[in-house]
Amino acid sequence: MQRLQAFKYELRPDGQQQRQMRRFAGSCRFVFNKALALQKARYEQGEKKLGYAGLCKELTAWRNGSETPWLKDAPVHPLQQTLKVDYKLAWNGGYLIAVPPQNTSRTCPACGHVSKDNRQTQAQFACVECGFEENADLVGAINILRAGHARFACEVRDAVRSPAAGTRRGESVPAD
Ligand SMILES: [Zn+2]
Repeated sequence: MQRLQAFKYELRPDGQQQRQMRRFAGSCRFVFNKALALQKARYEQGEKKLGYAGLCKELTAWRNGSETPWLKDAPVHPLQQTLKVDYKLAWNGGYLIAVPPQNTSRTCPACGHVSKDNRQTQAQFACVECGFEENADLVGAINILRAGHARFACEVRDAVRSPAAGTRRGESVPAD
């Protein structure tokens, strides 16, 4: 059996550290918005969107430029991570969808049969109806992905489509 453990730490920054953390967070937000604006502008001009490496080059230019020299005060890695997030999600037209967790661990992805007996142990899924067997975490992930796609189809169908509609992909997470 695999056991996952998480630790939670409380930081107790002093006044000076708090101010720095706020400034760094502000810098990350600024970089995110600037990168997003840049990608939009490129798209509207018919240019290709920049990849992560290209965005990092832009970031270096912003840090060394005369307009936003204060970006240099923030550590570079959080700023680069900011470019990574979202490059992955928003600029690909991705979505974060909340999925109700009900039955995601009890539903057979092969035949759809829902039963708590399908989950014989924490680790193993075995459908009592059709005999489908698989790692229980994988089954949960499949079901969450499917539920996410179903929700996505319902909720986004009538929404205004962004220019990136063609490359949009859904990202599913279990709701709490
Ligand atoms: Zn089944």
